[in-house]
Amino acid sequence: MNSALGIEETARHLISEETPLQTVMEESQRLTARHFSSQQNNSHTETNGKHWRMQLYAPIYVSSFCVNQCLYCGFRAPHSIQRKHLSVEETVGESQYLLQRGFKSQLIVAGESPKVSSAYLAEIMRRLRSMQVVPSIEVAPASVEQYAEIVAGGCRGITLFQETFDRTLYAKYHPAGPKSDYEWRVRALERAAEAGMPRIGYGVLLGLAEPRRELIAMMEHAAKLTAKYPDRIFAFSLPRIHEGPNGFAIPYQVSDELFVRMYCALRIIFPKAELVLSTRETPELRNQLASLCITQISAESSTEPGGYAINASQNSCAAKQSDDNFHGQFLVADCRSAQEIADWLTQYGHDVRW
Ligand code: SAM
Ligand code: SF4
Repeated sequence: MNSALGIEETARHLISEETPLQTVMEESQRLTARHFSSQQNNSHTETNGKHWRMQLYAPIYVSSFCVNQCLYCGFRAPHSIQRKHLSVEETVGESQYLLQRGFKSQLIVAGESPKVSSAYLAEIMRRLRSMQVVPSIEVAPASVEQYAEIVAGGCRGITLFQETFDRTLYAKYHPAGPKSDYEWRVRALERAAEAGMPRIGYGVLLGLAEPRRELIAMMEHAAKLTAKYPDRIFAFSLPRIHEGPNGFAIPYQVSDELFVRMYCALRIIFPKAELVLSTRETPELRNQLASLCITQISAESSTEPGGYAINASQNSCAAKQSDDNFHGQFLVADCRSAQEIADWLTQYGHDVRW
């Protein structure tokens, strides 16, 4: 990043249509290769500065119970979906299924409910760590003490999307429940860092507010935390609203080009940050971004508690999702198997880590 310019000015330049996309993409690719390349690239692919290590991960949805009413989410409280909460034992079962598929990096995801206590999460962390899993969490915000308990259990990272940094819109999208407390949420990553969380994952839910302002607000927030906690790994995701609940119209559409620019801007301004991409996006776009800046990518994801046990018997993501009995958070857009994705990444030249 040109240090003479502030974050806002640099980011605005990078995401402006007047800045050639090709230039932004090339700079992003160069920086990713520089900071994430490994010695272990495949010998049959020549190293041309476009390859790096790529971490695969998979989410485990442990609970679809939720006391909040986020307007954009299929798990919101008023929805009469069939809800499910996994016991620690059932979670271990899902984890073992993913381990057999090769995934060591597993993300525990849950709605907000008293069932998802810090003691429950800490116990899951302990069980998964004992199986050599590298577990992380994406759950409701917690206190420093609660985060410390979860970290002591073996948690390696947190993902917590602010959704939007626009306070007025935040209040509109989160009309009730504990999540309506903007201040509690916007300070959660700092509390996690204070509790010793090794990896801190940011995100805004694209579609809720003007995307350029959102990106800049997130970057400015993160810049302060990276300065305060230089020993931590920082990560960013840019989830786009995908298949919101019936009746939820996406107020701010984000084009593919802007989406790519935003990820590239994150890479250029935070060259060492992990950039994370989920299965909310299509295979084509995921392949493109994986060749520009992404360093962590999910695969074969189920957004339904107990979804892997069900998948194991039905074994088709597309068929599974068209089933009337689908009770997940949202439908995934990339149904390729983890092996197919890994093969594509390896062929491209990346050093795929499970
Ligand atoms: N309940 C916790 C929370 O809200 O922070 C964590 C789990 S929640 C399922 C994880 C994230 O899913 C939310 O932070 C939100 O950004 C995202 N999400 C919700 N509805 C979505 C949708 N329709 N499309 C894409 N992402 C969505
Ligand atoms: Fe609950 Fe999280 Fe969905 Fe909001 S986004 S309804 S808190 S699961």
